[in-house]
Amino acid sequence: MESKQQQHLIIIGAGAIGLLTALNLAPHVASITILDRNEAGRESSWAGGGIVSPLYPWRYSAAVTALAHWSQDFYPQLGDELFTRTGIDPEVHITGLYWLDLEDEPEALAWAQRLQRPLKAVSMDSVYHQVPVLGAGYERAVYMADVANVRNPRLVKSLKAALQTLPNVEIREHCAVTGFLREQGGDRIVGVQTEQGDLLADQVVLTAGAWSGDLLKTLGIDLPVEPVKGQMILFKCADDFLPSMVLAKGRYAIPRRDGHILVGSTLEHEGFDKTPTVPALESLKASAIELLPALRDAEVVGHWAGLRPGSPDGIPFIGPVAGHEGLWLNCGHYRNGLVLAPASCQLFADLLLGREPIIDPAPYAPAVRLG
Ligand SMILES: Cc1cc2nc3c(=O)[nH]c(=O)nc-3n(C[C@H](O)[C@H](O)[C@H](O)COP(=O)(O)OP(=O)(O)OC[C@H]3O[C@@H](n4cnc5c(N)ncnc54)[C@H](O)[C@@H]3O)c2cc1C
Repeated sequence: MESKQQQHLIIIGAGAIGLLTALNLAPHVASITILDRNEAGRESSWAGGGIVSPLYPWRYSAAVTALAHWSQDFYPQLGDELFTRTGIDPEVHITGLYWLDLEDEPEALAWAQRLQRPLKAVSMDSVYHQVPVLGAGYERAVYMADVANVRNPRLVKSLKAALQTLPNVEIREHCAVTGFLREQGGDRIVGVQTEQGDLLADQVVLTAGAWSGDLLKTLGIDLPVEPVKGQMILFKCADDFLPSMVLAKGRYAIPRRDGHILVGSTLEHEGFDKTPTVPALESLKASAIELLPALRDAEVVGHWAGLRPGSPDGIPFIGPVAGHEGLWLNCGHYRNGLVLAPASCQLFADLLLGREPIIDPAPYAPAVRLG
């Protein structure tokens, strides 16, 4: 086999995961073609809220936590690097996050103590002092000061711009992959079929988000990655309207630096449909007003839906596919693909290049999980 350095890679899907996978690998391989059915970075990675933490981090497995913690430490550096390289600021905004009236507050605090995370119970007086626009009637809060949010549409824009400066990377948009090419008489994957013809590669990487399971069906592989629809609404307020992220009853408000406030999100199993709906709009508005009553008088300036790549326990599939040499997965990040992206893509690059992995790859290994 050729050394990795001389290899040509195809990456299927230009969301945050595909783009960052390409950025990590580009210095180490001969060339990369990233294919996207639509425009790069316009699906889940655009639609998400961009909280750089799982919503309730203590409820996740050690596998998700390991990726989240590595990524959280790395995000400010990633934001700075992308801004320097492209002039597009992904706005990694450290605002902290207040969880209100948690049912499992003791578990949250125990988790924080065990893992040495700066999450602590705070008095409601201090919360109302810090966030005067918060709705009345909340009784308890925990706070983690170092939680950031990233302006994800800008993150994907800056990733795309960074890749466009690299001579050995091509981003081919509006080029849907329809299947895989197998070596004649064998199972090795040697390329992809697209609506515009066949393309050959030494390694094929599947980063097609919610669509990854569907594509693998063409090989008879049953990958449990399914679309989970999420709707969000957007308000525009004064820059200093909301100083921190707030979360209650599964709904959250995220302040961007310029006063845009995102409120999300729904969890719906509607297949690949991503039409925004009136009941979701009404329900999100009601949550927004309960959290931040002043939003009653604010206009909803945006409402959209995206498809999360749902996977068992939200654990992504990262690594080679057994029985199909040349085929790799980095997909299934469910509700946490933005926070998990830096670690997932670094781990993925380590595995593909045969380097010492940043963390134990076993919990994510398709070879183990797909049997
Ligand atoms: C409402 C909502 C809120 C969210 N909030 C957060 C949050 O606060 N924090 C967080 O970390 N995560 C959040 N997420 C989850 C996060 O957005 C996803 O986990 C992440 O974006 C997944 O990235 P991805 O690159 O795998 O998928 P995507 O961004 O969906 O990219 C997949 C790409 O593959 C392309 N593709 C698909 N099929 C094909 C094909 N056959 N051929 C070629 N290209 C193809 C698509 O066009 C798409 O561009 C949220 C998601 C939603 C919907």
